[in-house]
Amino acid sequence: MPELGKYIKKLKQFIAEANNILLICHVNPDGDAIGSMLAFYHYLTSTGKNVTMLSPNYLQDFLKWMNGTDQISIFLRNRKRAAKIIDEANLIIFLDFNNPNRLGEAEKIIRRSGAKKIIIDHHVDPQDFADFIISEPRMCATAELIHYLVEALEGKPFCGTPYDEGIYTGIITDTANFEHGSYTGDTMRIVADIIDRGIEKEKIFDRVYNNFSYDRMRLQGLALSSRMNIVEGYPVAYIWLTKEDLNLYNYAKGDTEGFVNMPLGIRGISVSAMFVEKDGFIKVSFRSKGSFSVNDFAVKYFNGGGHNNAAGGEYYETLERAISFFRECIVEAMPPIAEDNK
Ligand code: 5GP
Ligand code: MN
Repeated sequence: MPELGKYIKKLKQFIAEANNILLICHVNPDGDAIGSMLAFYHYLTSTGKNVTMLSPNYLQDFLKWMNGTDQISIFLRNRKRAAKIIDEANLIIFLDFNNPNRLGEAEKIIRRSGAKKIIIDHHVDPQDFADFIISEPRMCATAELIHYLVEALEGKPFCGTPYDEGIYTGIITDTANFEHGSYTGDTMRIVADIIDRGIEKEKIFDRVYNNFSYDRMRLQGLALSSRMNIVEGYPVAYIWLTKEDLNLYNYAKGDTEGFVNMPLGIRGISVSAMFVEKDGFIKVSFRSKGSFSVNDFAVKYFNGGGHNNAAGGEYYETLERAISFFRECIVEAMPPIAEDNK
């Protein structure tokens, strides 16, 4: 287990002094955001704490099976109720994000709150928007970090099916089922213990990964067959999707998730980008294999951030300009493929 002792005394104190704890995840929550939030919720409530949960916007279908999701308030669904929950909290814990703009439309009201605030996260270079920051980018998932913190708070391993499912889902989704990310032998030992305790891993895999609509599968086909390009001479490929493309396949939130990983499956490609046309801006995603930091690239050129091998950003121009800007920046940011490697 990695050394996290430096956080525990203070974290314990914040929790002990709070009688209303609010857990908040990032906008468009993924499996790690929801998994880590639910796991921490199940732990804290087991100790008798009064805990509420808030997501800035709606949960995607593939996460709704998780125990406790019915307890998550959605800011966009009921702003009045959310405002009340925020107002009543005296400790707010932010999970799985490093920038307050990931609170979406809830940012303003949350930042105004007088509650003590803690960040628990694994993204690099967190902004300072809390009283206490627990930032561990070496963790493959916030869920992994939560698991260690809970074990340290409890003084012994904590378990129970809903808790285990949260930790497990956070870890498998942030590593694409151990395909990438900074998972370690320690991560595997956590997962091994969870599996030994009898989690229904096939069922979870099915709910999380085999849950696409027919339209989404066909949109993936379009992306791969006619919306993918390689930057000649560089180990770089990118995908783009226009609004018309999305409409053609009845786009639902989350449908393009995972597409950006696919060009990395091409021999010789180690950097991948995806551009999706949204209302008034272009959502950009980056992935890399090896040492090229897409986090640095996203920070420098696309007003974003994330991890060294998975990051995102936004571009407030047309899709065409976003792509041509990307092509200019990427050849500036990395060397071409050496002649003898072509
Ligand atoms: P994705 O490409 O799956 O949307 O995001 C990959 C990673 O980059 C995630 O860890 C996410 O937190 C981060 N990320 C995505 N978009 C943004 C953004 O616009 N700003 C920042 N700071 N991080 C982002
Ligand atoms: Mn995460």
